[in-house]
Amino acid sequence: MTTEEHNFEMMEVKCPVCKSANTKITQKIMDIPHFPQLWFFNMVCSDCHFKHNDFINLSFKDPIRYIYHAENKNDYTTKIIRAANGTIIFPQIGAMIEPGPNAEGFINNIEGILHDIRGKASFLLGDASSDEEREKIREYVELLDSYIDDNLPIDIVVEDPFGNSSIIPADPNKLETIELSQDEAEKLKTGFIIFESAKDNVD
Ligand SMILES: [Zn+2]
Repeated sequence: MTTEEHNFEMMEVKCPVCKSANTKITQKIMDIPHFPQLWFFNMVCSDCHFKHNDFINLSFKDPIRYIYHAENKNDYTTKIIRAANGTIIFPQIGAMIEPGPNAEGFINNIEGILHDIRGKASFLLGDASSDEEREKIREYVELLDSYIDDNLPIDIVVEDPFGNSSIIPADPNKLETIELSQDEAEKLKTGFIIFESAKDNVD
């Protein structure tokens, strides 16, 4: 599977944090075979060092939930495109990546995301205030290791009220796509970073 990228010139916008004009956005359109076109942008403010990455799906705008049922090593290569407003949930291990003020877009496969969660859990070990807490974290890291090492069956749920997040499935038969009603979409959390001038360019 080859992904073509079309790079665009940098454009200047105002920083959403410090309002500086010394802010640049690099954009690219990504063409992934059999997949809607994605617009990726990276924003950097040279004054306050605010950074932001995000994806926008150019052909789909409705609230959506995807569920991928991973069962083996190949399934673990399924790629998740997480836009800043996307929520990623692993019900079996009680893990959730939610949007928030610092949420960013990324592309990673299931194994990579589990590795990231493992890294964050290990990091918490240093802050644990009791042996009991440390033991709980160690058990959680071991649980993650068993999924990562043995590719145990795991579901991954991706929800996005603006339809910008998605899943590139290793096996399309294991992907469920559920369109959400406005009521359901309103219950999803969103981050609050909005680029007005960047948005205008999409329409
Ligand atoms: Zn700034």
